[in-house]
Amino acid sequence: KIFVIGSFVVASTVTVEALPHPGESLRGHAFLQEPGGKGFNLAIAARRLGASVDGLFAIGDDALSAFAAPAFAREGLSVSMLRHKTGVTGAGIGFIARGGETCLAVAPGANHALSAGDVREASPAIAAADVCLAQFEVEEAPIAEAFAIARAAGRLTILNPSPYRRPSDPLLALTSVLCVNAPEAEALVRDLLGDARDADGDRSERLAEVVFGFGVEALIVTSGAQGAHLYRSSAKPHRQAAFPVEAVDTLGAGDAFAAGLAVGLAERRAWLEVMRIAAACGALTATKPGTFGALPDRRALEALLNA
Ligand code: ADP
Repeated sequence: KIFVIGSFVVASTVTVEALPHPGESLRGHAFLQEPGGKGFNLAIAARRLGASVDGLFAIGDDALSAFAAPAFAREGLSVSMLRHKTGVTGAGIGFIARGGETCLAVAPGANHALSAGDVREASPAIAAADVCLAQFEVEEAPIAEAFAIARAAGRLTILNPSPYRRPSDPLLALTSVLCVNAPEAEALVRDLLGDARDADGDRSERLAEVVFGFGVEALIVTSGAQGAHLYRSSAKPHRQAAFPVEAVDTLGAGDAFAAGLAVGLAERRAWLEVMRIAAACGALTATKPGTFGALPDRRALEALLNA
C-alpha cells in the first residue's frame, strides 16, 4: 500500500509549434484541460500499476474543484482522500511544443492549505502503508508530519522535491529515498554543497554523500532520455539506461518514474529491478501526449519490461 501526500491541480495546456517567447502571442492548436497535479499523478500512476493507494488531497470550493471527485472515482481512488478548503483549487497553465518540449506554471491554491492537522487525522492510514510518497506542490509541514508518522512505524518515505525548493534538514532526516531530476539535482548541489560544488569529481556522487549524511538511504537522479542514476549509502552507483522509445512529450515522466519507484519498493523488489520498473514507467509516459492519459498501467509496464 502507498500513501500519497497529494496535490491536485487542473492543468490547461495548448499545443503550439514552438514555445512562445516573452511578449509573443501565438496561434495554438489543441486545448486540453485535465485533472493532474504531481500528487494526483503519483496516485493514479501507482493505482494503474496495481498498488493499493491512499492519501490526502486538498481542493477548493470553486468551479475547478468539481473536476476532482469524478477524476478520483474514474481511477479507482477513494474520494475520502479529498479535503475541502475555502478558496481556489490548484490550477496550471502551460504549452506543449510540437517537438515535445513543455513549459508549465502551477498556482497551488488549496494545495497549500493541506495542514499537519489533516495529516495527523490520517496517521493510522499512513502508519499502515508500506511507502509514504510526497512531492513539493504542498507545504513542508504536512510532509514532515507524514514522514515522521511513517518512519516511526518503520515505513519507507520517498521525497520528490518538485517543483524545487530546498528541503529542510529535518525533512531530509525523515527521507528514506530522495528522487530528483537533473535540474533539481543541480539546485540541490548549489544549496547543499555550497563552496564544495566547484570541486573536481562527480557532483551527483558528492551530493549523494551529503544526503547520506542526513540519513537518506538512496538518491536517484533522473536525466530524461539519458536514463537515471541510483546512489546508495551501502553500494556502488548504478546507472539505469532509459528504455528506447519514441517520445511525444515528456510531461509526467518524472511523476511516473517516482510512482514506479514507490510501487517497486512497496512490492519489496530488489533495487535494480525497482530502477527498471521506474524507468519503464517514465519511458511509457513519454510516448503519449499529456500526463493523465499517458501514465501507464501494469499491462503496458509488463509488456515493455518483457519486450
Ligand atoms: P522529469 O519529468 O521530472 O524532468 P525526467 O525527464 O528525468 O524527469 O524523466 C524521468 C525518467 O523517465 C528518466 O530517468 C527516464 O527513465 C524516463 N524518460 C524520460 N524521458 C524519456 C525519453 N525520452 N525516453 C525514454 N525514457 C525517458
